[in-house]
Formats: sequence, structure tokens, C-alpha cells
Amino acid sequence: MSASPTAADTATTSAAASAACASVLDATLTAATRGERDRDPLQLPAGVNGWAVRWPELLFIGGIHAVALLAVLPMFFSWLGLIVCVAGFYVFGGLGINLCYHRLLTHRSFTCPRWLERLFTLLAHCNLQGSSVRWVAAHRMHHQFSDERPDPHSPLVNLLWGHMGWLVVTNPALDSPGALERYAPDLHKDAFHRRFSHKNLWLLVWGAHVLAMWAIGFFVGWAWEGAAAGVWMGFSLVVWAVFVRSVVVWHITWAINSVTHLWGYQNYRSTDNSKNNWLLGYVAMGEGWHNNHHADQRSAAHGHRWWEVDVTYLTILLLKALRLADNVIKPARHADSQHSLERKRLRDGGE
Ligand SMILES: [Zn+2]
Ligand SMILES: [Zn+2]
Repeated sequence: MSASPTAADTATTSAAASAACASVLDATLTAATRGERDRDPLQLPAGVNGWAVRWPELLFIGGIHAVALLAVLPMFFSWLGLIVCVAGFYVFGGLGINLCYHRLLTHRSFTCPRWLERLFTLLAHCNLQGSSVRWVAAHRMHHQFSDERPDPHSPLVNLLWGHMGWLVVTNPALDSPGALERYAPDLHKDAFHRRFSHKNLWLLVWGAHVLAMWAIGFFVGWAWEGAAAGVWMGFSLVVWAVFVRSVVVWHITWAINSVTHLWGYQNYRSTDNSKNNWLLGYVAMGEGWHNNHHADQRSAAHGHRWWEVDVTYLTILLLKALRLADNVIKPARHADSQHSLERKRLRDGGE
């Protein structure tokens, strides 16, 4: 097995990209230590009109939910569709969003071969969560201004805003020319990421995976019971393994933005409202240990205690064992560095 990356593609981040990224990451960490909060009540970000709904986005989100609801019709159910749905939850949601968009591209918590970063990015495109450049820019902005007014999706405005409202209105700080270059300069310089970000070309990847799902269902059904069964099996996979799975991954990702900034417990006295939510910790494959993550953003491990199981981190460790990941940042590695937060363990009587 040629698991070892070549010298040319060993690291996902070139020195230049790392330097560009570092300034953004440093800014988020510095901001998180400021202790400045304006959270009661928190206003919408400057320049945002909460009533100026972008109808195409709202109708798109509503339409995807409507198609997913076809799953209640028995004619669209198949065990294959359900199994591929669950597997896709891990493959597209876990590897695409958690591992790639979040821990690899946003926080550079580890490195991996460039071809693997590309592959994970394509998987992430299949979740209808936007391009890598925009996703990373929005998330870095969230860390820089967590639960302050410029935070693009703080639920301290209200739960609906933090969950999905922010997705259907224009935010000048995020949507203005230059915003993506400012918050994701490393990705914006990368032709691969920039190409899929341009004019929403990433949607082509999503469309291709829909066709692939239908084709898989068709061939399995056709081989089992003939062409007519194949057609319905194809639609079953599209409904379950694409639309149901996409909606489930949507709401789990959105709940990380909303629920884990409202409900849960804190291991660390971070200066925002982030919480560890045990339900989302398990369901979202480690992403729900959100207070740990805000307290130690570069760490690849979001679970810091033995019961805080982190499937995404375990996957990163598996990749490392296969020599497909390296430079994995551990929780304590940079705890005393100049970039670290003042991590106060509440249970130990931190201030
Ligand atoms: Zn993050
Ligand atoms: Zn957060």
C-alpha cells in the first residue's frame, strides 16, 4: 500500500499558505482572550437587516427539506438507502465537514497529503454547506468575534438566527468583496479551492454525487429484481442517502453554532458562551465538545476528558497511523505558548 505521501505533496500547507493562515488564526486567538463581551442583548451584526430575507436561499433550504420529507413515503424506503444514509453521515459529514472543513482547513490542526485534502474537500461539497473558502471564512470570523456583535451566527441574538437565520440574509462583513480573501487567504490563493468557490461551482460536485447515488441504487436494484426495481432503488438512495442525510448533517452542523453556544457545561472559562453539549458531542462525532474547542482552537482533539469521545479525532489518529496525517496538534502542546488562552479548569477552582 503506497500510504506514504511523496515529498511533493507531503504537507497540505505550503510555508506561504501557513504564514498567511497563521495571521488569521492568531487574530482569532487574540480576540478570544480580550474578554470583551456585549452579549445581553446581542444585536445583529452591523449592516445586517434581519427582515431582508434572501428568498432564493430560503426557498433552496426549504426545497431540500421538502424533498427529504419524501422519506415518509414507504415507496422510497429501502434498507440499502438507510445503510448508505448512515454511512454517508460519517463519510460526507464526518470526513467532509468535521475533519476537513473544520479541523484541517479552518484550524490547520494537522497536515495531510494534498491529494487527500482535495478528496476530503470534494466530500465536503456534497453536504450543501457552501464552498471551502466561504465556510472557513465564516468560521474563522466566528472564532474571532465569538458571541460578540460581529459574530456571524451567535445564538445570543436568538436561537433561530444562530441556527439558520444567518444563512438567508446578507451580512456585509461576510458577503462584501474582499471578505473571503481576508479571512481565508490561504484557501483563496489555492487555485483548487478558489475554482470551486467561484460562481458556486462546488454545486457541480454535489450534482455529480446525486447522479452517482442514483446509479448505485439502479445497478443494485436492477441486478436484484430488474430494471423497474432499479429505477426505484435509485430514487430511494437519492431521497435517503442524499436529501435525508444532507438535512440531518445540516441541522447537526447548525446546532453546533446554536445549541453549543447556549446549553451544556464548561471545562474552561472561555470568554464566550461556548459549552460542551454531551448529546451533540456524541452525535456530531466530537464537534459538540465546543467549549473545549473554543478554549483550545488549534487542538485536533476536541474531547479533553475520557468520556468526551471524539470520533473525528480518532479518525485523525487512524490517518496518522496510516501515515496519511502528520503534525497533529494535541490539547496540551501549545497550552503555554503565547497564542494559548488562559485556560482555567472550572473544576479546579479557576478564577
Ligand atoms: Zn472552530
Ligand atoms: Zn463556536
